[in-house]
Amino acid sequence: MSRFGIREREDKSVLTAPLCPFCRECFLPPAEVSTTLGFFSGGVCSKCGAVYVYDASSKNMGEAFMDALVYACKEDWDYAMSLEAGKGYDDVYMSYVERNHSISIKQAKTFYEKMGNMVFVKLRKSNDF
Ligand SMILES: [Zn+2]
Repeated sequence: MSRFGIREREDKSVLTAPLCPFCRECFLPPAEVSTTLGFFSGGVCSKCGAVYVYDASSKNMGEAFMDALVYACKEDWDYAMSLEAGKGYDDVYMSYVERNHSISIKQAKTFYEKMGNMVFVKLRKSNDF
């Protein structure tokens, strides 16, 4: 046994609590959310209303992001398209570990690891509706 914190195991993910990146509230495990066009796997932060979408494959994050943004805009595509990153909304990508409902904060090595498999989108002005 090595002492605490002395050696970092590269093969092991560093896991942390599943907290919303915007308000630090614990979010629920992704569930199926129905939309007018279909559904996505994710949810809505109970505290700040940020929408999160989980893509287990982490290969369709563009789509996941759109799902999150549009859902955050109450499925108003025109409004969603009019928003600019950093102005109309903020987005945060992270690596979710479904197995134990936690967030992996290990150093990303591959492209997909860097992209993460979960995206959080929060509108800057949620009172527009
Ligand atoms: Zn939140």
